[in-house]
Amino acid sequence: MSNAIYIILLGAPGAGKGTQAEVLHARFGLTHISSGDLFRENVARQTPLGVLAKSYMDKGELVPDDVTIKMVMERIARPDCARGVVFDGFPRTHAQAQALDAALAQQSKKIGAAVFIQVRDQVLIERLTARWSCPACGAVYNLLTNPPRSAGQCDKDTRALTQREDDKPETVRRRLAVYQQQTAPLIEYYRQTGLLRPVDGEQMIERVTAEVVAIAQAL
Ligand code: ADP
Ligand code: ADP
Repeated sequence: MSNAIYIILLGAPGAGKGTQAEVLHARFGLTHISSGDLFRENVARQTPLGVLAKSYMDKGELVPDDVTIKMVMERIARPDCARGVVFDGFPRTHAQAQALDAALAQQSKKIGAAVFIQVRDQVLIERLTARWSCPACGAVYNLLTNPPRSAGQCDKDTRALTQREDDKPETVRRRLAVYQQQTAPLIEYYRQTGLLRPVDGEQMIERVTAEVVAIAQAL
């Protein structure tokens, strides 16, 4: 693995991007940038960006490109990104993918791989409706497939786990439709640039991790 690597995790809501991003952070020290987490922090602090983002997130729609791109570009300009980044949930549109390519090129850097975590819709719906996470540290659990050691409590800091507002069934269905319309076309974009690395995301978490780690190690 070369010094600083930049990896994108591509996949539908619930595919396992956040789960695998945490592994890449822990194993390789990559900075984990989750656009969803950045928005949720702004929502919690009730910043103007948070108020705007919430109106889209609650409906399962994408936040507009201009504000999303600005937020992520500010984040990647910070010094901790020089050691490499795993992008989770960004880019989600062509405009975002192009903005990321341009920003990295300016710093003489480029994406090493776009790992596409593939999971069928029916499995995604089951996963998302059973997803719970820690409001303090962001650790992600699943009541069915990846439960915490003690019911309702984070393994890392014992905080009470919460369920995301947008993981209710109607919003999940809208998010999956939005993914098909606006994000799935990026699969072709990264295939054409030779960066696409498909992974079967329906395997056990540890199997998916082994494949994702092997891709990162080969860079
Ligand atoms: P998931 O990991 O389940 O796909 P995220 O936490 O990535 O969900 O995103 C939650 C919501 O935040 C999205 O439904 C969308 O409203 C907003 N969001 C996150 N990332 C982006 C992005 N790159 N572009 C536009 N909106 C985004
Ligand atoms: P994303 O960030 O792509 O929306 P998450 O990493 O939050 O996805 O995972 C969605 C839910 O599915 C979580 O509850 C997580 O614990 C669970 N999960 C993640 N990967 C797997 C897997 N390979 N098998 C079963 N459940 C998984």
